[in-house]
Amino acid sequence: MSSFESRGPIWAWLAPLILALLAVGIAAASPVLAPHGLFPEPLWLLCALAVATIGALHRPFGGGTLALGALVALPGFARLGVVPVALVAALALVGAEIALRAIESRRELPLPERRTAARVAATTSVAVIGVVAAGAVDATALQPRALALGLVAGAWLAPHLLSEARARRARREPGRGMLAALQPLLLDLAGLTLGAIGLAVGRAAGWTLGALALAAFAALAAEAARNALAAAGNARRLEEAQRLRRAGVALAAGGSGVVAVAEQIRAECATLLAFSWFQLDLDLPGEERLSWGAAAGESLSPGAPAPPSVPPALPGIHRRSAWQIVERPIGDSRAFARVRLWCDPRRLDPRALELLNGLLPQMAASLREALADRAAKFDRLTGAASRRVLELRLEESFARARDEGGALALVLCDLDHFKRINDTHGHATGDAALKAVAAVLLAPSRGDDLCARYGGEEFVLLFEETDGGTALEIAERLRSRVELLGFTAPDGRAMELTMSVGVAAYPELPVRTPADLLHLADQALYTAKHLGRNLCLLDIGGGRLRTPRGEIVDVAPEATGATEAQAPVFFA
Ligand code: GH3
Ligand code: MG
Ligand code: MG
Repeated sequence: MSSFESRGPIWAWLAPLILALLAVGIAAASPVLAPHGLFPEPLWLLCALAVATIGALHRPFGGGTLALGALVALPGFARLGVVPVALVAALALVGAEIALRAIESRRELPLPERRTAARVAATTSVAVIGVVAAGAVDATALQPRALALGLVAGAWLAPHLLSEARARRARREPGRGMLAALQPLLLDLAGLTLGAIGLAVGRAAGWTLGALALAAFAALAAEAARNALAAAGNARRLEEAQRLRRAGVALAAGGSGVVAVAEQIRAECATLLAFSWFQLDLDLPGEERLSWGAAAGESLSPGAPAPPSVPPALPGIHRRSAWQIVERPIGDSRAFARVRLWCDPRRLDPRALELLNGLLPQMAASLREALADRAAKFDRLTGAASRRVLELRLEESFARARDEGGALALVLCDLDHFKRINDTHGHATGDAALKAVAAVLLAPSRGDDLCARYGGEEFVLLFEETDGGTALEIAERLRSRVELLGFTAPDGRAMELTMSVGVAAYPELPVRTPADLLHLADQALYTAKHLGRNLCLLDIGGGRLRTPRGEIVDVAPEATGATEAQAPVFFA
């Protein structure tokens, strides 16, 4: 019994213990119940203890009764007296408990139920009270028989049922009812019957033969226990394989985004083992570490979680304990991710860790798939959507606007004189500047807005249900933010960053295809460059463009072919 932990009120085990001690104490004073003292015939006592312990190992229905070990009761009453048998019962139950735990931990068998020290104390006490009651009825030949049986039933059955019902409630399986709680007693009955046979043999043919019969029954009980443990081991392995398969299937079928996969991993980890906090890190080459964390049952948020310094208290009496942080790398040859689980060691089943290990390859596959998907959909440098995503969304949004009468605006942004930045400060600084501008462009996104990297230093914003005027206002706000960004190169030098913007909207511009709309935005951008850059222009149709301040720029249709000679003209 590695930990002393109570999952219920203290009286639930203390009361039966006190009653059992009282019963044994009173019985020990009786010359009928303890005719030869507490420890008569040590050899017989030891044999009875061995037989009772072996019999108590077979517990196919759970519970903590003597089970087939009850076969020592009747011969024991006759040969040793009631009180020694009660002591044998107590020692056998504790011994069987220790032996079962040793077998379970060595063969990594499941604990079919949580048998805390308090529960073992309670069930042992109940069994001792039952043995004393049965022994008293047997030794005194109590009459009438109905009263005698009632006494035994009351002393043995009632506390057993109470204790079973409590244990089942604690394990949240009340649905199995009283009949299920009686099941363990069936074995006790079988044990009593075998004991009666042994007693009859002993009385008729001598105690040596009687003892042999009892030893044979004990050997049968040991074999039954061995079979039951092997079957439990197989059932456990099958159940584990199924849990792992279910978790793997759920993971493979989960959402496609990286965060969705992280959520799925958290959910599947929760089906395998008990943890209080979760963290998933992604270490991708050339990128900052990405982390998501959450308390159990909450949804993930970006960043490392901040669990309290110790696990939450368990109900009842328990040892203090620190977190056990279960950490596993994800990725076959090179780990690219890591999962961390904050577990309460008192609630952690070591077998669950093996299940977790079994799920790691599926976690890696799902994450890899989500990352590949992300790489196809998002630009790695800036985090903006890829050009392919833009093209698909543009087709889709245009078709919807055309068929259902909606609106759509395109904003095409191009950084001014960006080549100079690269040439003067180097490519790395150019990259950093691109990232900074992208962060500005990505910031105002509503749910449906899209910001895509269209080319080297060109970005397209797509706004659904937005007219040209509104899109121009947004574009102007963004242009001004980029201008005021105050970007400094890694060498500390401040750099001026500006961008020019062309805006075109449907259905204000009666274009036939999304490519035509993009072309008009590009023409507006071209004119903005031509007019000196750091400017937003909206195509308002008929070869005319509008600035955010309401100025109209007239561009002859043929001028959109764009040459210096056909410079656009401003109108107030
Ligand atoms: P303009 O104002 O006319 O747009 O001038 P510009 O220099 O920005 O014009 P242009 O489109 O000719 O140059 C774009 C430059 O952007 C060329 C290339 O060096 C740079 N560029 C494109 N992609 C990247 C990138 O991913 N990183 C960096 N650092 N530079 C890039
Ligand atoms: Mg440019
Ligand atoms: Mg360009």
